[in-house]
Amino acid sequence: MPTETFEFQVEARQLLQLMIHSVYSNKDVFLRELVSNASDALDKLRLEKLRDDTLDADVSDLHIELDIDKDARTLTVRDNGIGMSYDEVGQLIGTIANSGTASFLKELREAKDAAGAEGLIGQFGVGFYSGFMVADEVTLVTRRAGESKGTRWTSRGEATYTLETVDDAPQGTSVTLHLKPADPENQLHDYTSPWKIREIVKRYSDFITWPIRMVPETGEGDFAPEAETLNSMKALWARSREEVSDDEYHELYKHISHDWRDPLETIRLQAEGTFEYQALLFVPAHAPHDLFTRDFKRGVQLYVKRVFIMDDCEALLPPYLRFVKGVVDAADLSLNVSREILQQDRHIRMMQRRLTKKVLSTVKEIMTKDADRYATFWREFGTVLKEGLLTDSENRDAILAVASFATTHSEDEPTTLKQYVERMKDGQEDIYYITGESRQSIENSPHMEAFRDKGIEVLLLTDPVDEVWVDAVGEYEGKKLRSVAKGEIDLDAKGEEKADGEREKQTEEYAGLLGWMREQLDEDIKEVRLSTRLTVSPACVVSDAHDLTPALENMYRAMGQEVPRAKRILELNPDHLLVKGLNQAYKESADRSGLAESAELLHTLAVLAEGGQPKDPARFVKLVADRLERTL
Ligand code: ADP
Repeated sequence: MPTETFEFQVEARQLLQLMIHSVYSNKDVFLRELVSNASDALDKLRLEKLRDDTLDADVSDLHIELDIDKDARTLTVRDNGIGMSYDEVGQLIGTIANSGTASFLKELREAKDAAGAEGLIGQFGVGFYSGFMVADEVTLVTRRAGESKGTRWTSRGEATYTLETVDDAPQGTSVTLHLKPADPENQLHDYTSPWKIREIVKRYSDFITWPIRMVPETGEGDFAPEAETLNSMKALWARSREEVSDDEYHELYKHISHDWRDPLETIRLQAEGTFEYQALLFVPAHAPHDLFTRDFKRGVQLYVKRVFIMDDCEALLPPYLRFVKGVVDAADLSLNVSREILQQDRHIRMMQRRLTKKVLSTVKEIMTKDADRYATFWREFGTVLKEGLLTDSENRDAILAVASFATTHSEDEPTTLKQYVERMKDGQEDIYYITGESRQSIENSPHMEAFRDKGIEVLLLTDPVDEVWVDAVGEYEGKKLRSVAKGEIDLDAKGEEKADGEREKQTEEYAGLLGWMREQLDEDIKEVRLSTRLTVSPACVVSDAHDLTPALENMYRAMGQEVPRAKRILELNPDHLLVKGLNQAYKESADRSGLAESAELLHTLAVLAEGGQPKDPARFVKLVADRLERTL
């Protein structure tokens, strides 16, 4: 087959441009990325051979080799792992599969300064392409295990790459970087220096479990020089805490997670006894872009006695901890273990329980020790963690203990439930909250008026999951969680103000209007009553204590579930001039057609005030415009 030329996918081209113009200041990491890919390829071949020993591949000396050619100014990273077929090279190297890439690139273009760009790039494993930070041409030769022909891929990182079939490629993959011209000013970045390569491998890839060998350049003498193994190959999770530096842990994290930044927290766990295992888990410092997408790859790496078994092992952590990365190395599992078996295995379930508790207790520790780090954690992962309130009743209290929420008590400091309870007023029995889309929209909602007046704290819950967990959890330490927009709120009972007598008198006075309005609004409203929660607005709509809120109804519909639209309750503020006027008009006139319009408008205003949509916007606009016209 002749050499064929292909165009890079648009996103791939953009990413390459970024690499070539090197927004990333620490170029050394290209080697970490290539070694990481090579190591993965060796893991994959080992596994494939284990599952199918007829596979025509040599697994007797799996390793990574680094070759320097000073004269040609090339550096080659070679592995004898799984390799890629012709088609795979085109797919894997010519395109970017990750769906987050487009949005990432957009953010990157919008990043104002270099530091911002570097931060963003750091979120994103650019892997193989990082070679173009140091090379102006890259050649990759690869042969898929079990196939006889190989493939050569070359590119200068511009618009195109070439593919060509080669007859004599060795098993595995070699990536040759044609290094950019040496910079006499900056000897530090000479990647043809064995000293430099040794240092980079030691720093970034020491824990790789396969040997990384460097072959010295053939000298003048007769001796074939000995290859030197650069890494210690010690699994970090099997070493004692004192032996391993934070930096080493962080490099392992980067290898596993494809995140370029340090993790927020490293968690170690050693379980002894009948079912022995070691775990090294990481809490990232930033939520990945695709955390809430369906195809987010969750789970940790599973090893059995230092041998890599699988990536993304979901069975080891519950979905609400899907942001946690790391390694679990179990002593007594079969090397052939499958995902299906893991899902059912009793020991694995016990591991999951233990690891879950360990992660939650670590978050608790961060919370007590370091407010800033806790704030980062909750900002990035709070929304995910709250899913656990629905799915993990065993750890509900532990999750509630580390949760925090925006509150009317403070503009910017969130509160824990414990702190809320400590601040509760004498006689206040419940924990009040309001749900909605944004702090601003709910803080000014009419439902809040009486609470604001009386200085009663309300939690401001704005994540979609909040709508659901508050109902599921119901209470905290014996205190009910109550929505300010649901059911009857009787703040008067907690002291002062309107005497019972006055209230009864008002109810009597308004009885006719309330009944008549209920009939008028029958399609949407099941009750019209006087409100105790309004002080400024004329009216608001509330849900019955056990009905779904409109937001929840919408959520179910978005998920494709049929839910009937619950009729709601309209509350009127008897002290508001508009409401007083309505009552007057109701009592005085026999023709109530104009009044019917007013009732409708009042209802729509109440819906708008809580952030809802008018049922018939055009009609609403017309009614309001007519009335405005009459006032001119
Ligand atoms: P990532 O490693 O983040 O997936 P890369 O761009 O580094 O992204 O690599 C893309 C894919 O190309 C890898 O997922 C892997 O399937 C394949 N690949 C890269 N390097 C090698 C290699 N040395 N051997 C086999 N496959 C490789």
